[in-house]
Amino acid sequence: MKDTPQNTPTPQNTQATATPANKKTNLYRDTRGLNTQGVPFTEAVINGIAPGGGLYVPDNIPSLSLDEILQLAEMSYAQRAATVYKAFGVDLPADQVDALMSQAYGSNFDTEEICPITSLNANTHVLELWHGPTSAFKDMALQCLPKFFSASAQALQKRGQLDHNFLILVATSGDTGKAALEGFKDAEGVHIGVLYPADGVSDIQRKQMLTQTGENVFVWGVAGNFDDCQTGVKKVFGDEKFAEQLLGEHRVSLSSANSINWGRLLPQVVYYLSAYAELVHQGKLAAGDLLDVCVPTGNFGNILAAWYAKQMGAPIDMLFCASNENRVLTDFINTGSYHIVDREFVLTPSPSMDILVSSNLERQLFELTGRNAEKIRDWMDSLNTKGNFRIDQETFAAVRNTFAADSIDNASCLETIREVFQQHNYLLDPHTAVAYATAENLRGENPVLVVSTAHWAKFGNNVYRALHKLAPNEELPAEVAALTGCQLNDLIAKETNQHNIPAGLASLDSMPLRFNTTIESDTESIEKAVMDFLK
Ligand SMILES: *Cc1c(COP(=O)(O)O)cnc(C)c1O
Repeated sequence: MKDTPQNTPTPQNTQATATPANKKTNLYRDTRGLNTQGVPFTEAVINGIAPGGGLYVPDNIPSLSLDEILQLAEMSYAQRAATVYKAFGVDLPADQVDALMSQAYGSNFDTEEICPITSLNANTHVLELWHGPTSAFKDMALQCLPKFFSASAQALQKRGQLDHNFLILVATSGDTGKAALEGFKDAEGVHIGVLYPADGVSDIQRKQMLTQTGENVFVWGVAGNFDDCQTGVKKVFGDEKFAEQLLGEHRVSLSSANSINWGRLLPQVVYYLSAYAELVHQGKLAAGDLLDVCVPTGNFGNILAAWYAKQMGAPIDMLFCASNENRVLTDFINTGSYHIVDREFVLTPSPSMDILVSSNLERQLFELTGRNAEKIRDWMDSLNTKGNFRIDQETFAAVRNTFAADSIDNASCLETIREVFQQHNYLLDPHTAVAYATAENLRGENPVLVVSTAHWAKFGNNVYRALHKLAPNEELPAEVAALTGCQLNDLIAKETNQHNIPAGLASLDSMPLRFNTTIESDTESIEKAVMDFLK
């Protein structure tokens, strides 16, 4: 799993008391069948991972009629989101949901459309999920989750189920950390600390984090690589003494708000329903026409959200899972066997998809087995002990019914960036390029929605390589390598005549760096840094 600590502590944050009976409240149980009582949305968000290690899933997946989906096009994006959450029966007052969504999807995005669609031709529509403050798709969820998180904590405090605040601790290889910082900055009742490998992120990524504003944020460089960072954070999460100390001295408990949190998944369902409505509204689809969706996939959150949208009634046909050279998901979808033993972890131009363990797949399998928690327990157990599992024929048939997959090698990824630019005067980032190439390989009769997960200017180095026909790992010419990330983007923009570098990226060289602490990756050093920060 990428970017997020895997074993979040077993939550002791909330007691499993029944909430006031509310017919519309959806309850959440877990993929391993261990939480039979069920918790409402607010508790699922605060807990993150279910006691026993399973992932929360809602009892009811609401369905929307085609008309209801098409009507979304008449609303602002914030209203579209609120409509979907209310359908899911979140246990927060309706007017509060409306208010939170206006904050989550407002002027923090660089377009009122929030996630506009660029159609390259009649059959290829690119859903741009990078118009948020950090120019990557994680904003779609992380501009929203913190609002839910603070509101949920307050609701639980009011109900007497919670009496402390939170420290979100994130180990990042680049993108998630910045999106989490931007989402949680100045959130009520929450502090956030991010650790990144001091020499392992790009100039743009580093400056994005070190210029972070907000009173409740801290960023540490860690001497070591991402693995050291992640292992260090995991150990801190596992240190019970430290947890007691945090609670005792600061009334704070640790949380990771990582990508398995249902509060991060739900916001992603919205844009698939919204995109369908939008395409019909723009006359690019007839109401009811089938649409295929192609998603550059890492932790399986984004593509799973598309599956939920389909389940709710969106006329989506096939879901194309796009992998880079780390092709564990493509192999799984093509063979029914998920195996990570002997699999090498490859560095690619699309680092946010460099994964071995894809944590949200567990939710998808739970759904595709008809919610068979026993099977999930067996498979996850096998993955943990043997490094692989194989699904049964019936489940495999269900997978094949909806999913197709392909993997794109590093050279083809860069070639795709160059070709699409030449054909359409449109620059793809490397993650989106993997999806675009996969869509070309797998498309059938239906038009395809290609999901675009980052702005090209976040990955200038590889976009430059692509445009100049350099090989994936080839060194940049010395005069190019000497440029800052911003300068390199300016050069690319000039060469390609693009005028769309997001303001948040363009201004990085002139913003003050607020943090300059580098720490060791051992538990003690991280814990000391955390304590100093909270003082
Ligand atoms: C996180 C990320 C992905 C992968 O999304 P998942 O939900 O983990 O499958 C793809 N592209 C970019 C740019 C990302 O940041």
